Amino acid sequence: MPGPPNTESSNPMSKLIRAAQWVREDVQAQKSYHIPEASDVIKLDAMENPWSMPAELDEAWRNSLAGIQLNRYPDPVARELHAPLRELMQVPEDASLLLGNGSDEIIQFILMSLSAPDRVAMAPSPSFVMYEVLARACCMKFAAVPLDKNFALDMPAMRQAISRYQPAVIFLAWPNNPTGNLFDIQDVKEILSLAPGLVVIDEAYQPFVGISFMTELMDHPNLVVMRTLSKVGLAGLRLGILAGHSEWLNEFDKLRLPYNINSLTQTTASFALQHWDVFQQQIDAICKERERMLGALQNIPGITAWPSQTNFILFRVADGLADDLHAHLLVDGILIKNLNRPGSPLSNCLRVTIGLADENDAFVASVIRFTHPH
Ligand SMILES: *Cc1c(COP(=O)(O)O)cnc(C)c1O
Repeated sequence: MPGPPNTESSNPMSKLIRAAQWVREDVQAQKSYHIPEASDVIKLDAMENPWSMPAELDEAWRNSLAGIQLNRYPDPVARELHAPLRELMQVPEDASLLLGNGSDEIIQFILMSLSAPDRVAMAPSPSFVMYEVLARACCMKFAAVPLDKNFALDMPAMRQAISRYQPAVIFLAWPNNPTGNLFDIQDVKEILSLAPGLVVIDEAYQPFVGISFMTELMDHPNLVVMRTLSKVGLAGLRLGILAGHSEWLNEFDKLRLPYNINSLTQTTASFALQHWDVFQQQIDAICKERERMLGALQNIPGITAWPSQTNFILFRVADGLADDLHAHLLVDGILIKNLNRPGSPLSNCLRVTIGLADENDAFVASVIRFTHPH
């Protein structure tokens, strides 16, 4: 093992040298996950619910926080949340629950518990980027299996990849991000039966589509189902939910950080779950807006917009225009996600989150000005 270099610690360069010597090379080679600055913009980039806590609930919510004892650690398993989450998400009685600081943290502790340098995590591509980022952070190999040109699972390729890599875990975002579609249910079932290891069905967008693998949970010994409150109005809480067989979850629980769900989150989530009808109305309104926005985008010549089962829409512009459109929208004060990478399956593609009706109108008007400047 190389020792630390023998340099003066007062020399500012020596800190850099030490970091370069000791921080994992793959981490040094990695780019930071970029989150754009977003003050004073119409923010349609991150699949947030555009509504804040409704005024009629706001005061009751603030009052609910008054009893929190911040000098004490939170309940280590957030027991108060289990019954209402089970009811809302129709978790089978025999299944266990595990909560995470966002579903990102759940993905992380699943991967930590399965990782070994020769083991493979797998997901279709394009899909949610954190599967690969966190698999690599856990020193696993990652196999990305391209979707077909309609963003459906390419089943011959999936069968071949499963047989070749024997993945420890397969992540299926259902519906998928960033494509917005739901993979064919029979294809998902075939993957469940072929997979030698765990299959995580990531239902982050389930509230916008309704159907779920939750009811099938106990029929598949290698299935766990993941949800989050982030996309339905509570992104700031950071609460992810994992449901599955206790044989899996009891092991993952050993790597979960103690007290990972903070007191403010526990109390606020409990409050929100008691008033779920309000959030459900917002979800229904977002789905309606989504259909209106899809129609508006599909009416703009030169734009291909794909139907969505989520709270965002993926669309493609004419070759070479995506970066310019993204910049033009920013000048108009509108932030969306630019997914364009030349030569990739998402070349010339952007993703817009469904916002409030006037935000969506502003977005569509700006796109029209870009495509027809006169
Ligand atoms: C947003 C998203 C998540 C992350 O959700 P958090 O609970 O906010 O960490 C997970 N999976 C998919 C597919 C997502 O789009």
